[in-house]
Amino acid sequence: MTEASAHRYLIALGSNQRLPGVGRPRAVLDAAVAALAEGGWQVEAVSRWIESRPLGPSLRRYANGAALIAGDLDPPEALESLQAIERSFGRERRGQRWRSRTLDLDIVLWSGGAWHSPDLAIPHPAFRERRFVLGPAEQIVPQWRDPVTRLTVRQLSWRADPCA
Ligand code: AMP
Repeated sequence: MTEASAHRYLIALGSNQRLPGVGRPRAVLDAAVAALAEGGWQVEAVSRWIESRPLGPSLRRYANGAALIAGDLDPPEALESLQAIERSFGRERRGQRWRSRTLDLDIVLWSGGAWHSPDLAIPHPAFRERRFVLGPAEQIVPQWRDPVTRLTVRQLSWRADPCA
């Protein structure tokens, strides 16, 4: 029997651009899940993809979702792994904040609780207000608890503004 993974992460996935050779944003998210598995993560659960309206001036609608992944990488290493996948999907880390995104991967929650360093905050600081994160997250980890508010993902999802 294999040993249990040291860490589990709830991640949020988003895309609002077609990727040549892959297709529209939903296909980009499917491909991202495959890339996570190829990158050594155990993908334990994946939500359905939803569509959300754009943040900021971009006009393209987003495909969003959530995944529960397990592995032995600690939070900084996990962020590096996710950023390597983002880069492989052609996302560039320059320019304005709300530019179109081929693929955005964020760490929302971590089985170890909270993490704070200059490059990484877990829980993700904005997740409690984001319906497009909480809705998909509720499908896969309704009972996970936010270590800051002590509320479950389900409770946060019920509380979140339906228009956010
Ligand atoms: P964004 O462009 O909004 O995806 O922000 C990316 C930056 O946010 C990265 O350079 C990370 O260092 C930082 N960051 C801080 N906390 C997190 C988190 N929980 N998940 C992903 N990125 C994070």
